[in-house]
Amino acid sequence: MGATLLDMAQTFPQIAFSELAFPRPDRESLADIYGAIAAQLDAGERRDALAAFDAARRHYESWASLVHLQFSRDTTNEAAKAERDYCDTLGPVATGHEVEIKRRLLDDPDREGLVALLGTHVVALWEADITTFDPRIAADLEEEARLSAEYTALLASAKIEIDGEVVNLSGLAPYAQNADRDVRHRAEQARWGFFEANGATLDDLFGKLVTLRQRMAETLGFETYTELGYRRMRRTDYGPEQVAAFREKIVTHVTPLVRSLLEHRRLSMGWDRLRAWDEALIDPKGNPKPAGGHDLLLERAQQMFDAMGGDLGIFFETMHEGGYLDLLNRAGKAGGGFCTSFPDVGMPFIFANFNGTHNDIGVFTHEMGHAYQNWKSRDQRCIDELWPTMEAAEIHSMGLEFLTWPEIDKLVEEGAADRYRKMHLIDSLAFLPYGACVDHFQHEVYDDPEMSPAARHETWKRLEKIYMPWRDWGDLAYPASGTRWQAQMHVYRSPFYYIDYTLALCCAMQLWLGSRNDPQGTMETYAALCAAGGSKAFTALVEDAGLISPFEPDALAEVVHEAEQELMGS
Ligand code: ZN
Repeated sequence: MGATLLDMAQTFPQIAFSELAFPRPDRESLADIYGAIAAQLDAGERRDALAAFDAARRHYESWASLVHLQFSRDTTNEAAKAERDYCDTLGPVATGHEVEIKRRLLDDPDREGLVALLGTHVVALWEADITTFDPRIAADLEEEARLSAEYTALLASAKIEIDGEVVNLSGLAPYAQNADRDVRHRAEQARWGFFEANGATLDDLFGKLVTLRQRMAETLGFETYTELGYRRMRRTDYGPEQVAAFREKIVTHVTPLVRSLLEHRRLSMGWDRLRAWDEALIDPKGNPKPAGGHDLLLERAQQMFDAMGGDLGIFFETMHEGGYLDLLNRAGKAGGGFCTSFPDVGMPFIFANFNGTHNDIGVFTHEMGHAYQNWKSRDQRCIDELWPTMEAAEIHSMGLEFLTWPEIDKLVEEGAADRYRKMHLIDSLAFLPYGACVDHFQHEVYDDPEMSPAARHETWKRLEKIYMPWRDWGDLAYPASGTRWQAQMHVYRSPFYYIDYTLALCCAMQLWLGSRNDPQGTMETYAALCAAGGSKAFTALVEDAGLISPFEPDALAEVVHEAEQELMGS
């Protein structure tokens, strides 16, 4: 399990997930490891120091990602929770050591030699990293992690009664997109009943997060959190102005299209108004369901990936047989879906909550895209290159959602593949205004950290009218009061992340268009993009893949136009 920084011929051990165990670091062991690296630098052994540094970070990350995963798999397990707390406490200590080493390496007058070893991109990432940490914010970082975990645990604790069943928030999905309008309405009443009951706590938690993020920014010498937030996302190639211009394009090109798609739905269903609870019923015949439950889907997924060619089939088999999948919804499991990885073994892990709706297919193909990228790029020379920044990473995930289209009949209920594809496309388009709204909201919140909870609700309400002017909450007074964002995990846990989905979607839809003209060539482009991992910044990776950057003036308008043609033609 040596470092790959200077040793390209790394081989990873083949190991089952159940056998994974990584040495548990503590303050002393970290001090020893980083002390030894500093001593190598003192002795002028930069090459060896870099290799040891990379190895230390891989070991630490493998351990931390396993700890976080085990907590997500069972948020009620006290031991898993205690270990997560321990990990969150140790996090800033490890970051402190890492930043100190990065600073030393960047201070070296021989910058050219450093670039030769690491590449320009990694050096640029480190330049950003060293501005985002100082030991003086260690306690705030720890508190941020604690508050984030509190949010996750609060949402995971939801026990929602509906139609004689008790479900968690993930389990509410089949009701929320039920073909029966009353069931959908009851599902949204139940969902927002939970958020209303916890509204004060959720406002309080977010207020604390905003205050402490602002304080960290000030400590580090930034005026507001926004600049720090962008740096923590490791964005080296664009800033808030470009993001704002992109959001504008969504309002111009996507909002009117989604509005007319929804109006079309309203007319075809004969509804007087299209309510918020009608938006999740994308297909008037009822959203197509998966072909079956968990076991059948995994069997069919193998057939699908085998049929897609390349090494996707082999990869999926490795994941499945190694136990690197946890896809069933269970009580106490954290919500949502994600992909994490263990750089010491070159394997990713997929976490999801199957609930019998089309989301099972969407989440699965999405997370498989992340996993495939991480696996394809496992041989990148240093840990910073294993994952790209998130807007690039979401191209891999959303790209695979589209690239599975030709074989998606294997995962969708009999005879519903065309309807599934249409639903997926509409769902993707409808996501763009929401994603931009979530981002805009955060910009306003962090621009004015003193904003009261009530003013935050008003802000959301105002922005919702710009991005989603059709939104009609009907008798659901709580979300109508501007609280929809409380259900969006990223707002609490990953500030400024959300726009990345919309930037990536603009690129993933280009892959979709490409695959219709040249399926083979586009799969090869996709595999190459995945293998490039995080070796370059977002806009450079996009350019290498022959895609148009979302920041180019017409990129979004063009893909949206093509999507509109597709929907009108079907
Ligand atoms: Zn993703």
